[in-house]
Amino acid sequence: MSGEETLLEALNSTPVVDGVPCDLWRDDAALGRWAVRHGGDGGPAEREWLRRTRDALQAVVRGESGPEALAACVEGARKVPRLSGEGLDWVLEVEAERRPAVGLILAWARVQEELPGRLRPCANSDCRLFLVDHSRANTARWCSMRTCGNRLKARRHHERQRAAEGRAAPGHSRKDPGPAKHRAEEGDGH
Ligand SMILES: [Zn+2]
Repeated sequence: MSGEETLLEALNSTPVVDGVPCDLWRDDAALGRWAVRHGGDGGPAEREWLRRTRDALQAVVRGESGPEALAACVEGARKVPRLSGEGLDWVLEVEAERRPAVGLILAWARVQEELPGRLRPCANSDCRLFLVDHSRANTARWCSMRTCGNRLKARRHHERQRAAEGRAAPGHSRKDPGPAKHRAEEGDGH
């Protein structure tokens, strides 16, 4: 849908794998294949624009820089109307090597417009992935409930247990938070 998937693939190309931050786009061949799948030629100049633009977009979505950080990539690009038997199309005009990178910025802008505030970094600070929240309540915080959501909930549960043990008077067994509390927390995330 409107480039959102492509945008998330790009933003999520720097995952943490087994505790180590990785860059799936550091590999020229892998990034080249990705670019070709998205209409590029995978050449060196195109890869350079893609890496640079991905880094800038990540910083913008994390709130580390403003959208003006993307200005260099879109400079001089324009969309022109073209009429055909199908009707009117807006055609992107920019050098071929910048086209996939500009496409990412346009996809980001579209998500900002159609789903304002819904593109965000995962709330797990050990995770470097991003998500677009499609939940009605706008409460999704994790890239994945199965991984980050459950891990953080388990950690918090453990911390609460330890705190409860610390508070418990000697000779008393620690209080079990009880099933009702577990249920209440499941609304957290998506
Ligand atoms: Zn995550």
